[in-house]
Order: sequence, then C-alpha cells, then structure tokens
Amino acid sequence: GIRLKEEIVRIQQILKAAEIDFVLKQERPLTKTSLLTENILSMCLKEAVNNVVKHSGATSCFISIEQAWDEIVITVRDNGEFKDTEDNLPKGYGLIGMKERLEFVNGSLTIKTNEGTTLIIKVPNDSK
Ligand code: ATP
Ligand code: MG
Repeated sequence: GIRLKEEIVRIQQILKAAEIDFVLKQERPLTKTSLLTENILSMCLKEAVNNVVKHSGATSCFISIEQAWDEIVITVRDNGEFKDTEDNLPKGYGLIGMKERLEFVNGSLTIKTNEGTTLIIKVPNDSK
C-alpha cells in the first residue's frame, strides 16, 4: 500500500518531467486515515495526473487536499483542454476505474470540463 504523501512525491516528479507547473494546496497532512482510503486516493491521484500529462496539453496542474470532519476532498485541476471523444464514449478505463473504486468506499467522482479539466474526488473521512 502507498500513503498519499509518497504518491505526491511521485506526482511531483512526473509533472516536472512533463514540464507542467505543479501547485499543491494542503493546510495540514491527513490524520488517522485508513490505509485503504489512502490507497484509493493515491490511485485516483496517479490516474488524474497521468491524464493531465497524456491528454490535457496543460502548462499547470493544481491539486488541493482537504480533510474535513466528515470527508476528504481532493481537487485536481489543469489549464489544458478536455479531449472529448467523437461518440462521447470513453476509450479508456482510467476515469471509470476511479469512479468504481471511489463508489466502493462510498465516495464520488465529479468531472468539470469547462476551462481545462477539474476532478473532484470525495471520500468519507474514516479517521477515528
Ligand atoms: P487509460 O486511463 O485507460 O489509460 P484514457 O486515459 O484514454 O485511458 P480515461 O482516463 O478514462 O482513459 O480518460 C478518458 C478520456 O477523457 C481520455 O481519453 C481523454 O480523451 C479525456 N481526458 C481525461 N482526462 C483528461 C484531461 N485531464 N485533459 C484532457 N482530456 C482528458
Ligand atoms: Mg487515463
């Protein structure tokens, strides 16, 4: 399993290699999050950033991580352009897989595609 902190380090490297500016907003580290939740969040972050690199043409990527009493919200935003498929059916499994994993832990994925792409990843805060 991988903690979110470690995934952030990798993401930083991937974005740097792709020459995409990276801005991270996180007031404080996650506390008492289960390894399952952090694993799922890490997988989602990795896929979101892969998509930014592969598809967006962005010059910058903004990520925020917020832990409230009831939920953890991660926002991944790029300033590129969302590439719609001709028939509107997804060709890959990244976004579908993300959604399925999130729903498995009662989380959700929201995608906004005006002015670049924004993913809003939510999971219940399971810290005890
Ligand atoms: P896979 O993830 O299975 O390797 P994929 O990346 O093509 O393949 P998804 O991650 O599900 O599949 O994304 C679906 C499609 O949505 C992409 O093919 C691309 O057209 C578009 N897309 C996703 N993320 C972005 C993004 N950040 N910027 C622009 N287009 C995107
Ligand atoms: Mg993908």
